[in-house]
Amino acid sequence: MYANLTAQIRAQAQKIGFELVGIIPAEPSKTIDLYERWLQNGYAGEMDYLERHLPLKRDPRELLPEAKSLIALAINYYTLDPSQALTNDPSRGQISRYAWGTDYHDIIHAKLRQLTRFIQKIAQEAVKTRVFVDAAPVLEREYAQAAGIGWIAKNTNVINWQAGSWFFLAGILVSIELGDDLLPPRGSCGTCTRCIEACPTDAILAPNVLDSRLCISYLTIELKGSIPRALRPQMGNLIFGCDICQEVCPWNSKATPTQERGFYPRKGNLAPKLLSLINMTQEEFSKRFKESPIKRAKRRGFLRNVAVALGNWKHPSAVIPLKKAMEDDEPLVRGHAAWALGQIGGKAARKALQARLKVETHPEVISEIKEAMREAQIKS
Ligand code: SF4
Ligand code: SF4
Repeated sequence: MYANLTAQIRAQAQKIGFELVGIIPAEPSKTIDLYERWLQNGYAGEMDYLERHLPLKRDPRELLPEAKSLIALAINYYTLDPSQALTNDPSRGQISRYAWGTDYHDIIHAKLRQLTRFIQKIAQEAVKTRVFVDAAPVLEREYAQAAGIGWIAKNTNVINWQAGSWFFLAGILVSIELGDDLLPPRGSCGTCTRCIEACPTDAILAPNVLDSRLCISYLTIELKGSIPRALRPQMGNLIFGCDICQEVCPWNSKATPTQERGFYPRKGNLAPKLLSLINMTQEEFSKRFKESPIKRAKRRGFLRNVAVALGNWKHPSAVIPLKKAMEDDEPLVRGHAAWALGQIGGKAARKALQARLKVETHPEVISEIKEAMREAQIKS
């Protein structure tokens, strides 16, 4: 009965920009036990909302009780490959590809609203819908795999044999039975283990098992507090997210650029100079990252990441900006700036640390400064 409707929805979704579309029945999750075990192991770190979402993730009908079908969607965000001269430059920060452009939530929600309106217009009856993207309480990777969008790979991303993994997943629950409309499944990781070997922090414990607490994406975006000292050197110049396990994936070698202009890099988001970021005021941060996914890290988290990257650059020109960052209102920024000075070492860095120690009152920052002074001593 709905075959014609299904074809029209698929065509419209693709016209709106969702290159990959699959439709499956809205049924309980088949992988929830695995997910629960992952949470029990503590691999979600401080992402408490994942635990809170667990009851809802058991069945998409928790979100929309009348749901009969689930439209799984994917939209490509691959734009271009910046020159290696830019990405390998330790004086510049690397930002995860998905965050170069305008906030994808805004772009995708607008497209989902458009598609929802279309469904309601062409259906012969009243249709209830519920859209989801990203952090919504739905196991979107499981449903994307079931709909044939791709397979859940060893690096935990969904990979499509033609498009690779540079895409966002989204979906719509609808209260009408559309009938299955799956993409033919194709491709696999096979014996490849490139992503596991390339991960700088060994966060992929086993195929498809990620310990978020070790993952640089988590450390630079989701973690609100201090980054464990032992992991900071592995972060290199990654200041927001990490794409390494996707960059090394052979399935991404043939990615084609998206048609969505909003995902293309905004001015200043492609490998910005670290020294232009470390002393940003709240006003400057809010202005620069308005409507950008980077605002999720908040100023204090972002400057913490920039300080770590400056510590990894180890260039004396960062001493004065880091000295200023040690006067920041946020203890998190002061503590990581101290760490960075300890990594740079030298007389000027040591003097800056000593001066701050005389006036610092926050216990964590005092401990960071003392540790940094020991490091600076060793490096001098
Ligand atoms: Fe490892 Fe980076 Fe992939 Fe996280 S995003 S698993 S840190 S390579
Ligand atoms: Fe799978 Fe290899 Fe890609 Fe990792 S790098 S996701 S193992 S194909």
